[in-house]
Amino acid sequence: MKRRTKQILIFVAMITLVMTLLSSSAGAAAEDPSTQKIRVGLCYGSNSTSNYTLTTKSGGFEYGYSTGKEFVLEGETSASTIKISSSGNQKLSLMNGDGETITTFTNQSGKNFAVRPKNDGLTYVKSPSKSDLNYDYYGYMEFMHNSSTSTAMKLINVIDFELYCKCVLPCELSASYPMEALKALSVCIRTLATADYTQDRHGNNIGFNVCNTTDCQAYYGNSRREVEKNRLITDAAVDATRGQVMIYTGSGSEHGKTIQSIYFSSSGGSTVSASAQWGGSSMPYCVAVRVPEETSYPVWGATVTLEDIYNLTKSSDFNSSTSWKKAIYSLGEIKSMEIVSAEENSDHVYKLRLTDVDGNSYTITRGDRVYFFMHRLVKGQTKNISSTNFTLTALDPYSTNIGVITAEGEQIISSAEQVSVLTGSGEEAYSLGTSTTVLTANGKQDVSLTSSSGYRISGKGYSHGVGLSQKGASDMAKNYGYDYETILHKFYTDVAITSLEELELILPINY
Ligand SMILES: [Zn+2]
Repeated sequence: MKRRTKQILIFVAMITLVMTLLSSSAGAAAEDPSTQKIRVGLCYGSNSTSNYTLTTKSGGFEYGYSTGKEFVLEGETSASTIKISSSGNQKLSLMNGDGETITTFTNQSGKNFAVRPKNDGLTYVKSPSKSDLNYDYYGYMEFMHNSSTSTAMKLINVIDFELYCKCVLPCELSASYPMEALKALSVCIRTLATADYTQDRHGNNIGFNVCNTTDCQAYYGNSRREVEKNRLITDAAVDATRGQVMIYTGSGSEHGKTIQSIYFSSSGGSTVSASAQWGGSSMPYCVAVRVPEETSYPVWGATVTLEDIYNLTKSSDFNSSTSWKKAIYSLGEIKSMEIVSAEENSDHVYKLRLTDVDGNSYTITRGDRVYFFMHRLVKGQTKNISSTNFTLTALDPYSTNIGVITAEGEQIISSAEQVSVLTGSGEEAYSLGTSTTVLTANGKQDVSLTSSSGYRISGKGYSHGVGLSQKGASDMAKNYGYDYETILHKFYTDVAITSLEELELILPINY
């Protein structure tokens, strides 16, 4: 009895030892949040194909398979050009530049064919269809069939996450920006890639974490890191914020999650909430804020007549079954176009009311729809509408209606009174009836009489206005000495800056 107990104890001890060894080896293989990899979709959907051509200057390729984040080596070739071609049933061939087969492989679930250049070099992808793909990439390339019956394969670039951030930063912001603005954007880039983003945009089991376009964030491989003096600057910004991400500290379902740290070019002095711009309530940290520090924004403008507005409402853009477009299409001759209201702390227009001569009106609600309408309205003019941060000035018939650049910024000449304007021939008295060329926000413009009522659109800033303004971040760093954390807290509400290690956050493989 006693001996039997002892045997059992020894047996239990041995099992415990084996299990400890197993778990410790599993622990060693687990991915480290600080050195993890990201999966970037380079070709997918209609851009995926059954033939890819890759080249390298690093002495050839290694091939094998990917288990999601790890490359398993099976062989190598000295060929500097390789072709990967699939005939379906998950089968594919690796060929050299002359079309001679080097090896064949059959993809399985969680085990897809992969190649990488020798000596940690760069792979040049010759785009089968996308013009934005002809770049050099670090990391390895994985080929994942769209389905078990498809010949087309997704091309997925698996790369160290921090190196990915270093490649993206100069695609989104130039090295000439102040260091604190570059650091702020580094945190945005890292955070955005870890947010529950792929599922929102590309669907579950897509096989990658982010795509390579501005749909997620621009990733042109290593192409923007080629100039050393610029690379040293942008790499330093990413290194200085290594692993740092933002989480939402407010209440609700987003609490504790990494945020969708949306950013854009220029606010024109205020941002707009994600809900006003796009509807929904999924980004409670992107609310409207005033940005008086931002002064280096672009200004733009255009003039439209009531007839232009009416013609647009009857165009094919609005002859649609989509309810808001249909409502615009069904209006009669347009009498007025008005900005209904803006959000608190914002000058971005997200409610625009159109009224016809019979008194019927429709209010376009949501910034992206206002933008869609206005963008088409001014199409063809010298400068297109660049954001939803604009004002409307009603113009009477037979006034001159022109925005002239003065010492105080753009001013409207909208009456018959005499004004001195700067023209190509020096200062000239300008009055109704004369015809002259003046300098406006749209460049040189001929001033002529307007025979129809309409509106002068005067705008500021560039892009959607949600989240962090790059020009704002730049002005804050340059003119106010704000550090990157102050900049981030300025643009994102109720967030904390933490790290991937702190969160133990590992990007999913997303097969
Ligand atoms: Zn995307």
